[in-house]
Amino acid sequence: MALTPHPLVVRARRLAADLLAPEAERVDQEGVPASHIEAVKRSGLLGVGAPADQGGAGAPPAVLRETAEILSGACCATWFVQTQHHTPVQTLTRSDLPVRDRLLGPLSRGELLSGVAYAHLRSYPRRRPVRVHRDGDGWRFDGTVPWYTGWGLNDVLLLAGVTDSGEVLFAFAEAREQPGLRASAPLRLAALGAARTVSLELDGLWLPREAVALHTPYERWAAGDRIKTLHTSPAVFGVAESALALLDDESAAPLRARLAGIRRTAYALADLPAPEERAGELLTVRAEAHELLRTATTAAVVTGGGRALALTSPAQRLAREGLFLLVQGQTAESREAHLRVLGALPASTAGQRR
Ligand SMILES: Cc1cc2nc3c(=O)[nH]c(=O)nc-3n(C[C@H](O)[C@H](O)[C@H](O)COP(=O)(O)OP(=O)(O)OC[C@H]3O[C@@H](n4cnc5c(N)ncnc54)[C@H](O)[C@@H]3O)c2cc1C
Repeated sequence: MALTPHPLVVRARRLAADLLAPEAERVDQEGVPASHIEAVKRSGLLGVGAPADQGGAGAPPAVLRETAEILSGACCATWFVQTQHHTPVQTLTRSDLPVRDRLLGPLSRGELLSGVAYAHLRSYPRRRPVRVHRDGDGWRFDGTVPWYTGWGLNDVLLLAGVTDSGEVLFAFAEAREQPGLRASAPLRLAALGAARTVSLELDGLWLPREAVALHTPYERWAAGDRIKTLHTSPAVFGVAESALALLDDESAAPLRARLAGIRRTAYALADLPAPEERAGELLTVRAEAHELLRTATTAAVVTGGGRALALTSPAQRLAREGLFLLVQGQTAESREAHLRVLGALPASTAGQRR
């Protein structure tokens, strides 16, 4: 009996086929247009994991993964801009602070798009790129956010920093220049330059107490973040599938079989009640998935010959997107595991570099 796909999977496929895939090479060169974001907002996909009582779809993780594969395989830049939104939705869903009432509904219904600025927390305590201090009835942010995606496309921004007493503080701000918040020019990057990534200079940005979505000890936040970063991003499979679609069926078949096996293992591990207990396996399968992606995009370039290097060719775009996915959400732990799979680190060094 054939299973009926989730309505958001159907909508993601339609958005991918009608808009994202046909425009992908142009968007890669010119940037994600506001009209793409409007289409994503209308699709309901911004609320895929959001609570149903807030206007979201409350869909299970398998639907989140499938829609992410579809969108990333069609246009990785658009997928990347919208994927930031799911962390603010999740943070607000778990929050009992007043900002939940103000923002969870509009974010779940896709009326507002949120970006995030928190990956820099992963360098703490070695470094504290964004410092937060209590200031009157609110908080003051100082420092530099090295990466912020979706500038000019997002409506709001979930910004994180670390307090002097070692707590993380996440608060919402409007995603525009304002006193204490200045954005760089869009960063010129080898891939995903279309996603409008900038760095942010914070010089006394003041946010009221009511903007705070999470305030917790660093170690507590880091334990949850670590679990998230152990997993393989569904985009790795989405981009790999699109690369394999550029091969003839006979050449694609063995790589498709490998992809299916790695994906099955990655998602089965992700669905375990305590996946962190299998951290080693998660990180190994994550690295294997990236290696398969590299093989798939290389095969697509080889198949295409010289014309694969034209900026109008999907093969070169997918290969560059694969490069980007190597570092997205990277942690010291995943970097080390990947280097071991590549044979760049002997197995005996495991855990010694952290
Ligand atoms: C195009 C692009 C867009 C992005 N957009 C966003 C965004 O919108 N929001 C956001 O929050 N982030 C964003 N990022 C950040 C991204 O998730 C990080 O690049 C990723 O987590 C790797 O971190 P890094 O490059 O800052 O750290 P790196 O300094 O390269 O380090 C990688 C990891 O290794 C660890 N590490 C580095 N040096 C050492 C050391 N000496 N000892 C121990 N550990 C070490 C770091 O703590 C980190 O966890 C973006 C990145 C890119 C490339």
